[in-house]
Amino acid sequence: MFAALTIFGCTQSSKNSNAAGSALTDNLIPDTSWTTSVVKTNAEWKKLLTPEQYNITREQGTEKPFSSEYEHNKDTGIYYCVSCKNPLFSSATKFDSGTGWPSFYAPYSGKSVNVSVDNSEGTSRDEISCQRCGAHLGHVFRDGPKPTGLRYCMDGVALQFQKEDINQKLSKATFAAGCFWCEEAVFEGVKGVREVISGYAGGNEENPTYEQVGSGATGHAESVEIYYDSTQVSFPSLLKVFFASQDPTQVNGQGPDKGKQYRSIAFYRNDAEKQAIEDYIAQLNKSGAYSKPIAAQVIPYTKFWQAEDYHQNYIQHNPNETYVQVESIPRIKRTQKAVPELFKPEKLLK
Ligand SMILES: [Zn+2]
Repeated sequence: MFAALTIFGCTQSSKNSNAAGSALTDNLIPDTSWTTSVVKTNAEWKKLLTPEQYNITREQGTEKPFSSEYEHNKDTGIYYCVSCKNPLFSSATKFDSGTGWPSFYAPYSGKSVNVSVDNSEGTSRDEISCQRCGAHLGHVFRDGPKPTGLRYCMDGVALQFQKEDINQKLSKATFAAGCFWCEEAVFEGVKGVREVISGYAGGNEENPTYEQVGSGATGHAESVEIYYDSTQVSFPSLLKVFFASQDPTQVNGQGPDKGKQYRSIAFYRNDAEKQAIEDYIAQLNKSGAYSKPIAAQVIPYTKFWQAEDYHQNYIQHNPNETYVQVESIPRIKRTQKAVPELFKPEKLLK
């Protein structure tokens, strides 16, 4: 009997997941760089939403006036689509309309909402839906305050508010070390890390796609952007994780993934980070732990492009895929074994 083992690398996977927004559940980030819609069946929405949320967003329901906790919410923050986490409204444009529904005079961005004509209930109104997932949100009327004169009358049930906490401003770090699925999963487990996004960095091309980067046609490398609380984890500690997660002496590749799109890069945002990276590389070269010199590049951060939705939290969504089993999981375990004290205890793999 033959047991054929095929390792599908990062470049060969099929698109079988459309888990938009799911990468952003812990700490919502107002991402307006998305390019794909979120499409789900009614059955899938039913699983994700409460019956009330489903009724409002998918069956054009209207919540009872004066029933939303958001009607008089004065906190500073952002209101997201409860269905797909698209940022819809900022508290900066919220006003008290006295109607019983949370009201705003402008959407968060040009990618927040769509307007369409709703002729139900014997009247013609402008219906507002989420531009990304099509969720029904409410209506817009022309009796709002300046500067727009519009009143976006929203069902609070369709919204998810995230308060801005000035004490919790997160820092960012960006690294590349081969397949971003693995790096994302590694850093998601690090203490003090709130969110990790898979994407592309290191090249000059605008709006790169996975196919373009994967073919080696761009200057970008698969990268991760890490949002972390610098009071809980330092940049030098992230460097320890970064270097432990890879063979930093491998040139233009990582493990089975070959090509400059898999090269290793430590991006820095200021002189202190540059110095920290150079010091740590010097330390590693001196340590005798590697037979070849450290090949990771040290370059200034310029721009990070978020990857397509199906790459976010890939390992979590595809735990049984051969590449994940054969490459990613062992890599995560090796990293955790090297610096266990830096990981959240509940994320340590057996
Ligand atoms: Zn939405």
